[in-house]
Amino acid sequence: MKKHVHTLIIGSGAAGLAAALQLHRNGISDILIATESLAGGTSINTGSDKQTYYKLSLCGNEADSIRSMAETFFNGGSMHGDLALAEAANSVRAFMNLVELGLPFPADEFGQFVGYKTDHDPRQRATSIGPYTSREMCRALIRELQKLQVPIQEGLFVKELLIDYDTRKTEVNAPIPPSGKICGARFFQRSEEVQGNLADENADRWDVIEILAENVVFAVGGPGGLYRTSVYPKVHTGAIGVALQAGALAQNLPESQFGLASIGFRWNVSGTFMQVVPSFISTEQDGSNPKEFLEEYANFPGELLPLVFLKGYQWPFDSRKTVLKNGVVRNWGSSMVDIWVYVETVLRGRRVWLDFRKNPTGYSRENIGEEAWNYLEKSEAANLETPLGRLEKMNPEAIQMYADHHIDIRSEMLEIAVCAQHNNGGLAADVNWESLNIRGLFPIGEVNGSHGVYRPGGSALNSGQVAAIRAAGKIARGPSYDAKSFTENQTTEPLPSVLETVDWINERRELQERMTRAGGFLRRMETIENALCETKNRMAQIRTAGMQSQRNAYLLRTEEVYLEAIRFQLQSGVGSRGSAIVLTDKISDDEQNVIELDGKKVAVLPENETFRNFVQETWFDPEYGTIVNRWVPRRDIPEPDSWFENVWRMKKK
Ligand SMILES: Cc1cc2nc3c(=O)[nH]c(=O)nc-3n(C[C@H](O)[C@H](O)[C@H](O)COP(=O)(O)OP(=O)(O)OC[C@H]3O[C@@H](n4cnc5c(N)ncnc54)[C@H](O)[C@@H]3O)c2cc1C
Repeated sequence: MKKHVHTLIIGSGAAGLAAALQLHRNGISDILIATESLAGGTSINTGSDKQTYYKLSLCGNEADSIRSMAETFFNGGSMHGDLALAEAANSVRAFMNLVELGLPFPADEFGQFVGYKTDHDPRQRATSIGPYTSREMCRALIRELQKLQVPIQEGLFVKELLIDYDTRKTEVNAPIPPSGKICGARFFQRSEEVQGNLADENADRWDVIEILAENVVFAVGGPGGLYRTSVYPKVHTGAIGVALQAGALAQNLPESQFGLASIGFRWNVSGTFMQVVPSFISTEQDGSNPKEFLEEYANFPGELLPLVFLKGYQWPFDSRKTVLKNGVVRNWGSSMVDIWVYVETVLRGRRVWLDFRKNPTGYSRENIGEEAWNYLEKSEAANLETPLGRLEKMNPEAIQMYADHHIDIRSEMLEIAVCAQHNNGGLAADVNWESLNIRGLFPIGEVNGSHGVYRPGGSALNSGQVAAIRAAGKIARGPSYDAKSFTENQTTEPLPSVLETVDWINERRELQERMTRAGGFLRRMETIENALCETKNRMAQIRTAGMQSQRNAYLLRTEEVYLEAIRFQLQSGVGSRGSAIVLTDKISDDEQNVIELDGKKVAVLPENETFRNFVQETWFDPEYGTIVNRWVPRRDIPEPDSWFENVWRMKKK
């Protein structure tokens, strides 16, 4: 079956939905949202104690500016300056659109949108409507799109991007990515009798359809299916592999974020979950032999509690917060808590839980420290008896949120692990979010790798909304509806019609465990090389077996590309940065930071900060079957001519 639309939007998370709305507002109505499910993806299924949206400050007397916000993004390292400026410049417009759609972002009686400080944020630019900010963004956008009668087709799984490749100018395997023009995409479509039933992965009830399009807005989210220990919603595997397979250029792939999250129901345990200072308990697999394992590292009961408090707003694992010159406790930063949880869960094979029902051993005003006490006092929670009491006072919705998912933290412990949460990297695009090497392909939202090494919490959601505005604007300025820039017959060929095989579950588990082992927050060259070997072997088998499992095949391709990117980063000598540290058993000089992993000393390789001035680009070459990595200097923040008359004149042309 074949269809044709002017602009095809793949994915219906906060970014894809916003793109459809912005296109419609720009007068482009021949559009279609093709998606696995309106209930799928990260945005509608995820959150934290106070899920954050990042924008320019719109309150009080502390001056903020677009330039200053762009600098915050840029200073995170390895982010292109023009993207930083575009994300800052459009943040108010993107935010106000959500306000107009009815999202209840807190404003005072005069209409000032109050803000707070989030991770890597020098101001108070963050805002939130509670645990479900991104879910409510999706719901508001869906309501609006339904009102506008924008067509949405669910039950479609993107299988392939259709690209009319340019003739290559080089004969040999040159380190230049392929280029071309998008023509649409192929999808597996759930047969009618299983439409709407996502749990049914039955192998043979799929048809293949082709949707031809002048532009494709690719909004399929982050690589949710890559890691075993993950806080991405289980329903979300992502589809960046489809674009990688087609040769789309990617950037900063090694820069993922990891942090503490509950795993029964997947949710970040950031903010108040940590600020109320719960007990950290570990048990055997069967729940026996509970102990407060942090005490093992403390000189006296309660010594480490300031680190637990700090995890509230230092949520992602941060290589700079492990061993410090002037750490909060004996040269330790708050990310040591993640490492100790890792030791317990991975190296010792135990399970780790948060217990809100009782104070941790040694809990006292003196031991939690001045900062924590002042915070709790201001929140009128300091004198409450238990972490649960403090949480009830400070954020009762957080308790209710778990209750809604059948976990009663009033009566039971909450199991946690250090989980993959977000990828700062992704597909590479320009300031209009158009792919750098595939014309007409607009990767937006988390599948786009605009962010650098560090990004302020909440900037992922901002980026997706800004990208929707920018991409829609570019598309609206592009060729008219009738101008077709490709021929239809170049895109048809016979296709396999099997999505999953009977053994897909084991295969998925294996690849995810490998990625968690090798591409997680603790990285070692030997582990990465071994994992890559396994992945490549598996890829080879899959090819000879005739692509028996399409989704796993794309995940395997994704794993291979990500691991190659991580290996290249390590080989280049970047060292430990962002949300991952690089470890070696060779402890060679006194300057190295040394940590203990279950009694074994290992050295943490220091960061070579020169690389913050570069962006790592990666691509799979479909013609040669190779994966190429390179460093490109990052573009500075532009200083455009902002003189009104001049910009106005240009606009009128
Ligand atoms: C626990 C957690 C907490 C977070 N907290 C914050 C926060 O506080 N602030 C912040 O800014 N960010 C946060 N993030 C990140 C943020 O939520 C995501 O980056 C963002 O929601 C991604 O939106 P998206 O529209 O790009 O993708 P998604 O919302 O993931 O949507 C992807 C869409 O693509 C569809 N799709 C996927 N694969 C296919 C396929 N093969 N075929 C067809 N359709 C497909 C899906 O069904 C879905 O509709 C958090 C993430 C997690 C996991």
